[in-house]
Amino acid sequence: MKITKNTVVSLDYTLKNNDGTVLDSSAGREPLVYLHGVGALIPGLENKLEGLEANAALNVTIQPEDGYGKRSEELIHKVSKAGFQGDEEMQVGMQVQLDTENGPMIATIAGIEGEEVTLDLNHPLADEILHFDVEIKDVRNATEDEISHGHVHGVGGHHH
Ligand code: ZN
Repeated sequence: MKITKNTVVSLDYTLKNNDGTVLDSSAGREPLVYLHGVGALIPGLENKLEGLEANAALNVTIQPEDGYGKRSEELIHKVSKAGFQGDEEMQVGMQVQLDTENGPMIATIAGIEGEEVTLDLNHPLADEILHFDVEIKDVRNATEDEISHGHVHGVGGHHH
């Protein structure tokens, strides 16, 4: 069976940056299981997987535009320290979760000056050229429920 919209794909992967440093990998874990064609993966990777079958292996390089985007100065905000809850001491480089009108977002604390905190909402992998080694383990049709929910159920999925 080929990977097309509304198939459920299991795959092993290793993600490296342009320096060859491993950023993420399914090695030693269960394969990644996702619903194809609904934007679960970055667009550059889903496009390359389209049409492949189980046991296919590929090595792809993805430019930032098809990955986690280009860094944008517009995603850097200065906010008041008073807006943060919790006792944890804030430090530069720390990641914090924000509740926004688009849902939760991860921001990195880029600076702290007095009562002012600089938040960077760019994805940590923005501007990175990504290298994926992928091996397709399994491809199956999604169920009606999975299609209507927009995610995978069962092994590797939601609703355990
Ligand atoms: Zn569901």
